Amino acid sequence: MTAAEFFDAKMRRFRIASKEPYAWFVTRGPGEGTLDTTLLAGALEAGAEVRFRSRLEPSSADLVATGPQTPDGLARETAFETDGTTRVRVLYDPSVAPGGYAYLFTVGGRGTFGCAIVRDLGGIDRYFEKAKEKLLSVDEIPVEGPRDAYSFMNFALAPEPRRDGRPAAGEAGAFQDYLFGLGMRYAISSGALAADALLTGRDFSALARERFGRRQRVSLVNRYLYEAGGAFGLSLFARFATRMDFRTVLSAFYRPGAVRLALAPLVEALWKNRGLCAHRLPPHWCRAREREIRAPELGRIG
Ligand SMILES: Cc1cc2nc3c(=O)[nH]c(=O)nc-3n(C[C@H](O)[C@H](O)[C@H](O)COP(=O)(O)OP(=O)(O)OC[C@H]3O[C@@H](n4cnc5c(N)ncnc54)[C@H](O)[C@@H]3O)c2cc1C
Repeated sequence: MTAAEFFDAKMRRFRIASKEPYAWFVTRGPGEGTLDTTLLAGALEAGAEVRFRSRLEPSSADLVATGPQTPDGLARETAFETDGTTRVRVLYDPSVAPGGYAYLFTVGGRGTFGCAIVRDLGGIDRYFEKAKEKLLSVDEIPVEGPRDAYSFMNFALAPEPRRDGRPAAGEAGAFQDYLFGLGMRYAISSGALAADALLTGRDFSALARERFGRRQRVSLVNRYLYEAGGAFGLSLFARFATRMDFRTVLSAFYRPGAVRLALAPLVEALWKNRGLCAHRLPPHWCRAREREIRAPELGRIG
């Protein structure tokens, strides 16, 4: 992808572009040439035995990669067939996607419409319908054979990415980008790192902290800034993004720079969950649910 259209809460359109691709479309699932099929073929070639529709207890595995445990962010998506026009549209509007964003992608005859949120998760259907109405108001788009699905992501900072005493990769080990929930690269690279650590007898937790720790802390700060900006901040971000190469904008955001790393302990203290959670990880940082952030805690940080 080298271009996209961003929309703010007032449906003002901002066109962004980059010289080199700033992201790639990836096809998932069982079809030919998808990411999953390609990884499966590589595993089989390396001698792995793959069992479908079979559960393994994490405590009896060498490495756990069972995905997210609990919804810190929730998405509803519709996949459909459509015309051949390429459309990459993202709507930044906290009133229809609180803490998240809504998107409409159509590429090569396939389309996805989605709404991802990190607050008021119970309202996902309401937000989905509102976001759909807004994004589909831009133009008429053919929608054939729509299929709906819900999915979720989790986020935590886990110095020991383990589950049931076993090393955990991907979202099971809390490897995730908290800004936009883009965890595929984390899943693949933490899985490769964990496998390498197992084979060479090295300490996966230490390797993972070194490789991913700073990036994950910066993604937490990015998320804080993203939510704190509100509709006005997001509109400003979209406007700003039109003026620069978008790949450069994204690299700057994702680079673990000194200023944002210095802010991380403040955000961690402000958002810290001091109660129970469902992440099933050793001692870790995770975010308090909205009702758990109490005024005295906010006061202490300020
Ligand atoms: C709506 C949505 C859109 C996203 N879009 C993007 C994107 O554009 N780019 C990006 O980089 N990331 C994206 N992500 C995030 C990305 O999909 C995840 O971070 C990534 O797939 C996590 O990989 P994983 O292997 O850790 O877990 P998963 O992909 O969830 O895989 C875990 C697998 O383990 C299986 N499993 C669970 N328990 C057991 C058990 N006991 N025994 C055997 N098998 C078990 C599950 O069935 C599942 O197949 C998106 C996420 C969502 C929800």
